[in-house]
Amino acid sequence: MTDLARLGSWLRCPVCAEDLEPVDRLTLGCTQGHRHDVNKRGYVSLLGGGSKFVGDTTEMLDARDTVLEGGAYAPIAEALAAAIGSPQRLLDAGAGTGYYLRAVLAGSPGAAGLAMDLSPAAVARAVRSSPDVDGLVADTWRPLPVRSHSVDAVLDVFAPRNLPEFHRVLRPGGTLAVVVPRADHLASLRAAGGMLDVPTDKAEDVMAAAEPAYAPLAREHVSYDLALDDDLRRALAAMGPSARHAGTTPAEATETTVSVDVVTFTPR
Ligand SMILES: [Zn+2]
Repeated sequence: MTDLARLGSWLRCPVCAEDLEPVDRLTLGCTQGHRHDVNKRGYVSLLGGGSKFVGDTTEMLDARDTVLEGGAYAPIAEALAAAIGSPQRLLDAGAGTGYYLRAVLAGSPGAAGLAMDLSPAAVARAVRSSPDVDGLVADTWRPLPVRSHSVDAVLDVFAPRNLPEFHRVLRPGGTLAVVVPRADHLASLRAAGGMLDVPTDKAEDVMAAAEPAYAPLAREHVSYDLALDDDLRRALAAMGPSARHAGTTPAEATETTVSVDVVTFTPR
């Protein structure tokens, strides 16, 4: 059973920005009379109209599960958990299947997480994966239907960033943790031109963008070699944005380098 009071405790009405509270067994509402149905799978969609981006497909989510649940990115999750400490209320923006969110929650007894993603299928998996995870389908690029100063930490792992909105929802003294790939991340898989997207989103760019509103806390380079078999190679190619394009056959590498920056900030 979904704990509707806990789900509502994260959220504000996307129409009028008032706090959402349970109004019956499967509905959240505000005092202005706006009503939002909670899905039977335990999450609420507050997308509103006009979101033009498409969430991850089932195939992309299966690929993510192969990569993440197989432990290929476990060192990233460990670095993230170490960097972020023990938050009690944690928002994962672009949570996917909730892998990183669960990793951080594992070190924070009694904590709860909100998995936010554009993909309802991803949010459903995240909610199903842990009793400590609530689910929200929403678009990171739009005003977030999340209460102001209500979370201790925001996670953003290989996901779009809305720095002003993350700042608004973080409590004073909270932590924003961002994971971005370096130029050499998975380079051997791209060598044959099979995977289209070369990372362009550098830690330096994130830090420059964050500078006016956030003080930097720490930056860690996580880098290691990853042995590849056919399944993992295919899954790594299929989990990313390049999977939308035709002909994304990864190069025949037997090993690749994982290379990312884990950067943390606190609101100024
Ligand atoms: Zn409202």
